[in-house]
Amino acid sequence: MDKNKRRAVIAGNWKMNKTPAEAAALMDALLPAVAGAGCDVVVCPPFVALPAVLDKARGSAIAVGAQNVHFEKSGAYTGEIAADMLAELGVRYAIVGHSERRQYFGETDETVNKRARAAVDAGLCAIICVGENLAQREQGVTEDLIRLQTRVALGGFTAEDLKKVIIAYEPVWAIGTGRTATAAQAEEVCAAIRMLLAELYGQKVADGVSIQYGGSMNAENAAELLAQPNVDGGLIGGASLKPADFGAIVKAAGV
Ligand code: PEP
Repeated sequence: MDKNKRRAVIAGNWKMNKTPAEAAALMDALLPAVAGAGCDVVVCPPFVALPAVLDKARGSAIAVGAQNVHFEKSGAYTGEIAADMLAELGVRYAIVGHSERRQYFGETDETVNKRARAAVDAGLCAIICVGENLAQREQGVTEDLIRLQTRVALGGFTAEDLKKVIIAYEPVWAIGTGRTATAAQAEEVCAAIRMLLAELYGQKVADGVSIQYGGSMNAENAAELLAQPNVDGGLIGGASLKPADFGAIVKAAGV
């Protein structure tokens, strides 16, 4: 499939940055920076800033996502946020299984699967993150690991469900380190993910799924990464907090 038929998705993960007032101010700067975007643009602020950001995003081309979502609908899960709560606010995306969640908060492939299921059931688009750490890359197990993470994350998902799924390939060694995967490395793993999707769901379905690269993507390296045949967009951390840089990445994705 011609990758141009898949709409590129550039998503900003603001992580634990910006109070609601600061988030609103960042939106004021981002909106002109991404005006006329030729790709889908998503920002994922902290939970408490979602209302302020949704307010600013209303009527614009920016969609809003959450950085996590719980798998139960309601109940005794202190500190967690359910998918329906997000959907009711107007949130349209949820990042699931970010490596920081896996590393610091005990997220596993199984909980990633459950969270992604809950997101999709609530009508959200799940951005499912997978990625190897440096030791795993050096041991040569990257492809096996990514296939396993992706397969478990998608357990029980139908081809129809996949319309609401984005896979984000994020090598852990590249996140927040300034050390970006080469375009060839990003393409190799994104292509392997698409091959797995084709094995599981058929080539036509696999060709319709957006696969992002994430890991120190910035204004300088975005164009080369996004030009790869199987890299359909980016999940952006640090650079998503800098309006000019995020705008440049969005522009690189839209051409
Ligand atoms: C991320 O947090 O998903 C990410 C890719 O961060 P950074 O762009 O800062 O490496």
